[in-house]
Amino acid sequence: MNKSFWSSFRFLVPATLLVVGLILNGYAIVKFLTKKPATVTPSPSVTPTVLVSPTPEKTISPSPTPPAIAPSIEQKSVLTLKKPKFGHFPYQEGDAQQMVIIGSYATGAEYQRFEKLAPEAALALMKMIYAARDEGVWIVPVSGFRTIADQKQLFQYQIQRQGSPEKAAKVSAPPGYSEHHTGFAIDLTDGNFPKKDITYEFAETKAFQWLIDNADKYGFELSFPENNPQGVSYEPWHWRFFKYDGFQ
Ligand SMILES: [Zn+2]
Repeated sequence: MNKSFWSSFRFLVPATLLVVGLILNGYAIVKFLTKKPATVTPSPSVTPTVLVSPTPEKTISPSPTPPAIAPSIEQKSVLTLKKPKFGHFPYQEGDAQQMVIIGSYATGAEYQRFEKLAPEAALALMKMIYAARDEGVWIVPVSGFRTIADQKQLFQYQIQRQGSPEKAAKVSAPPGYSEHHTGFAIDLTDGNFPKKDITYEFAETKAFQWLIDNADKYGFELSFPENNPQGVSYEPWHWRFFKYDGFQ
């Protein structure tokens, strides 16, 4: 009995030591493992703080954003509320810095000016002009983008020529009411008949006929065809890029 007790005791001592050792090892492993995620957690805890900080900024920014949206809505409503003048709709002036040169208009060697359009319309016009050229038709841009100040001068000149603003408005839009302000409208002529620039005879030229047959393929249409619902007098030379959604 005694012998077996001591022998079992002898066995129990290393066994308990082994168990204790295992427990300690296990504790050390667990501690190591728990420490590792602990070193990982700081970084997610850092990223949330990074993620959190912009969100309050974003939640703050909505307050400045609505005023930024609000004026554009107001401006639009102002435009739509603004009634047409002598049949011409109001238009805001496009950004002159954005306009690109589409060609020059000249008479003889004395007078020359450069005409511009908004890039999208300019590209479409160039394609159209070259497509016409391939068919022996010479389309020349006469007048593109115009500032409100440019239009003021033109309109004043027309008032002097025609005798009254009402009569002037038959041939020219009042300042602030021209499609030319947008940079998406262009007056065109036939290079073979310079005398027909901005006249009704332009409607008899090869260039005009070509435009009637093909302009829509390039995104252009007559703004003021004969008997247009807007009541503006017929302008065979005046074309607009209908892909621009700002026209009324
Ligand atoms: Zn025009």
